[in-house]
Amino acid sequence: MGSGKVTTGSAPLDLRGKHVTVAGLGVSGIPAAKVLHARGARVTVVNDGDDARARAQAEELRALGVTVRLGDGATLPEGTELIVTTPGWKPDKPLFLAAAEASVPVWGDVELAWRLRGPDAAPWLAVTGTNGKTTTVQMLASILKAAGLRTAAVGNIGVSLLDVVLGEETYDVLAVELSSYQLHWAPSLRAHSATVLNLAPDHLDWHGSMEAYAADKGRIYEGNRVACVYNVADKRTEDLVREADVEEGCRAVGFTLGTPGPSQLGVVEGILVDRAFVENRHKNAQELAEVADVDPPAPHNIANALAAAALARAFGVPAAAVRDGLRAFRPDAHRITHVADLDGVSYIDDSKATNTHAAEASLAAYDPIVWIAGGLAKGATFDELVARSAPRLRAAVLIGADRALIRDALARHAPEVPVVDLEQTDTGAMLRAVTEARRLARPGDTVLLAPACASMDMFTNYNQRGDAFAAAVRELGA
Ligand code: ADP
Repeated sequence: MGSGKVTTGSAPLDLRGKHVTVAGLGVSGIPAAKVLHARGARVTVVNDGDDARARAQAEELRALGVTVRLGDGATLPEGTELIVTTPGWKPDKPLFLAAAEASVPVWGDVELAWRLRGPDAAPWLAVTGTNGKTTTVQMLASILKAAGLRTAAVGNIGVSLLDVVLGEETYDVLAVELSSYQLHWAPSLRAHSATVLNLAPDHLDWHGSMEAYAADKGRIYEGNRVACVYNVADKRTEDLVREADVEEGCRAVGFTLGTPGPSQLGVVEGILVDRAFVENRHKNAQELAEVADVDPPAPHNIANALAAAALARAFGVPAAAVRDGLRAFRPDAHRITHVADLDGVSYIDDSKATNTHAAEASLAAYDPIVWIAGGLAKGATFDELVARSAPRLRAAVLIGADRALIRDALARHAPEVPVVDLEQTDTGAMLRAVTEARRLARPGDTVLLAPACASMDMFTNYNQRGDAFAAAVRELGA
């Protein structure tokens, strides 16, 4: 790197004496500032807020010799050669407009981690998508471990890539979850293989449009070496593969819940099969696992398993390790978690279904359903979700601030479905909702918490909402 701007070439990253501005304190900003400082950069942190917490964090950084400017995250500090931003900062912020004007590059924490990797660093198998990212990287890590590889599920899943890349531990390969924000700010990232699981409108206020959101997700395929894995049922993911610039010889590999064609993974009579990573894929198929090996065996989760299997196979993992890894995998809490059976009715907590796309996937997995839904809609509309799910609904119990939107969609598309509309928002509200659901359910039904909404109007987060549901079910069963 010569004088002036930091470039995005492939030379080892030399930060000595460079003036780097870190945009935003917080979970990614503070570690980034420390790492940059330790590498000899002159670091200035800028932050919008100036509250007690920010001041305490600023003190800690100043003690190291980092400059911190609180209460002004908009102005580009004089002489900045590189900005390292918290992924959540919106691209239309004045700081970034000023950076673009001055041709100063902007990197997120993922780009910084990518650039700081050592020469023998582990390759990345990368996963993004609107829904299913966490589940898929966990399945992938489980499969890679079953193959005897040193690996970890990292990234947007809550494990900082910077920590992993700079840490003591050595890995053979990493299973990396990436958000659309992280991808937006990761211009030179080049995964070994990657997947976009699915694409539905989400975070559009941040990206500006569906096209911009899709384009950021599509960056995950840039420079892939072995396989770009797409969802056959979601044509936009295949379009993104087509638009990507990849390494010579990199293949497009599809996953489907149907019978796979050549260069696809799919399902045949309850068996997950691979027709991509086999000799003579026009004639042969390799059995990987059974649908029953996947927990839960809901259709969208089989799709996640196929995507994870495709990435693992792209890395050369044998079929038996795919099966063993899927068998060993258990989903995180509040993702289609079976809570209890009461009087022949199953109670399922999918509190993590915080948008309509996720809720539609879980509603597709059960029949008949007493559906508990509602919360903060984040600008979503519910007509499509309700129209497609209506045939499976026994009844609906609605909670939360934006429940009227769901009630109106039900009135339009499923007028025969009984609806209980709960105004209550206090801590007893979930018990009331589950009590109503129990009253409406018949033996063989599933009571499904799949809110299609965020939780923050009534709960701290989706975990607390799911816990409240489980506690209510247990109370009724006691
Ligand atoms: P993410 O990390 O993308 O938020 P998770 O694996 O945590 O995804 O799953 C979040 C929710 O999304 C799940 O509770 C489920 O309702 C739904 N979901 C999971 N996988 C899929 C998929 N492949 N398609 C649609 N919805 C899904």
